[in-house]
Order: sequence, then structure tokens, then C-alpha cells
Amino acid sequence: MGVTNFVGEAWRTGKSIATGLKITFREMMFRPAITVFYPDQRDEVPPWFRGIPVLKTDLRTGEYKCTSCMQCAQACPVNVITIEWHQDPETRKKVCDRFAIDMSRCMLCNFCVEACPFDSLVMGYDYELCKVDPENLVFEFEDLLRLGLKYSSAEEPGPKAKRSETPPWVFHGLTNATEDDIQDVRGYLGRPPLPKGYEPELKPQFQQKQAEDETAATVEPEPAAKPAAEAKPEAEAKPAAAPAAQAGSTDREEAGQP
Ligand code: SF4
Ligand code: SF4
Repeated sequence: MGVTNFVGEAWRTGKSIATGLKITFREMMFRPAITVFYPDQRDEVPPWFRGIPVLKTDLRTGEYKCTSCMQCAQACPVNVITIEWHQDPETRKKVCDRFAIDMSRCMLCNFCVEACPFDSLVMGYDYELCKVDPENLVFEFEDLLRLGLKYSSAEEPGPKAKRSETPPWVFHGLTNATEDDIQDVRGYLGRPPLPKGYEPELKPQFQQKQAEDETAATVEPEPAAKPAAEAKPEAEAKPAAAPAAQAGSTDREEAGQP
């Protein structure tokens, strides 16, 4: 390597080091820090953020808005929504017994929200969903309703937003849910992992139904009485069989057989 090449190489190296240091010095001295010290600090997520699909409640009545129509479950491309329902014998309406979403496989595609014709689902912005055991990522009906309270409104629900518009319910600050309605959602998310075999506490009407089902399952069915037509020939067959046996022994005796 000639002297000229050595000087040129040294110049380029020194220049690149000076450029890097200049950028570092400028960022350090003249720009505000953008680091967020999580979990003490939490950054605001953009309004289009998709955290978890949650269920909304009509705050005027306190009733959940889901009608168990199954449209969301059919729209889900990875089949992670489980819905069980029964029909109320008096009102003839569907009553939701179970609504669960397996968040370990949900891909946050928003299809379920778009498919819902009753504006019951919304993609929440909650992102602190980590659990040690993936089984605990199954969010049950009560969980989804509780998380959805802060996206619920006491006002008359308006028409669904057009595709090109940002849906208004994404901005939780615009809903009328109060702090009491929200019920310590952050504390709820920070709870310890649920035990295996966890089952959410059933609402009173479901508890009554469950008790009835268990009672029906424990009552053993009585053995069915034999039809008279079957019983009679059997009773008649016995006396008929005895003479036949006697006749058989008589025949054998006559033939000199034992
Ligand atoms: S966001 Fe997508 S993957 Fe997740 S439950 Fe809804 S439809 Fe299924
Ligand atoms: S589409 Fe909406 S109303 Fe129908 S079952 Fe799903 S969440 Fe409930």
C-alpha cells in the first residue's frame, strides 16, 4: 500500500468517526428523549391499534350487546371464537352461555369486528396480555365484557362507520363510560395467571340452568317395564317347556338311554 492510499484511508476513517460522533452529540444534547420507561411509563397507542377483540355493553341497560348470532365465529379465519347459547323459553331469544376467544392463536385481523352486525365487538387497545401458560390466554365471556366496558357507550349507538373512516368507538375517551364502569381494568390485566381448569363465575340465570342440568344428569332413568305382550308369552313358555323336558326324559327312558 502506497503512502497516498494510506493517507486517503486514514482520512475516510477519521471522517466517518467524526460524522457518527456529531450525530450522537446532537441527539444527546439538542433532542428530547423518546425512550419510554415501561412499565412505569406507558406510551399512547394510535387509534387504529388492535390489541384484543372485546365485547361491548349497552350502558343504558347494563345488558351485553351480543345476540349470539355466530357471525363473528364464522368470519374468524383461525376459528378461535367459541360461542354457546340457549334459547329463553319465555322470550324466545338467544341467551349467551359462553363466549370465549383463544388469544394464543388470534391474529388480530379485525374480521370478527367487521362481521358483527350489532356493533357488539371492538378491537381494544389493551396490549399487556402476556401469560406464562398459553391456556390462560383463553378470554372468557366475563373477561371480554369487563375489558369492553371502557369502549361501551350510554348513548344511542349510531350507524356503523364506513370502511374509510376511523370508527368513533376506537377513541375510548369519546365514550361515556365512567371510571366506575371501567372497574380497574389495568389491575385486572395484571392479575396472576389463572389456575388450570379455571371456569368463570356464572351469572345467576346460568347457575340455575347448570343446577337443573346437573340434577337431570344425576337422576338415573328407571328400567323400562316390559311390554305385556312380551311378558305373557314368556310366562306361558315356562310351563310349556317343563312338559317338553319331561317328555324328552320319558322318550330317552323308553329308548333305554340315561
Ligand atoms: S381478530 Fe381475527 S383471528 Fe382474532 S378473533 Fe377476530 S377474526 Fe379471529
Ligand atoms: S357477530 Fe356480534 S352479535 Fe353476533 S355473536 Fe359475534 S359478537 Fe355477538
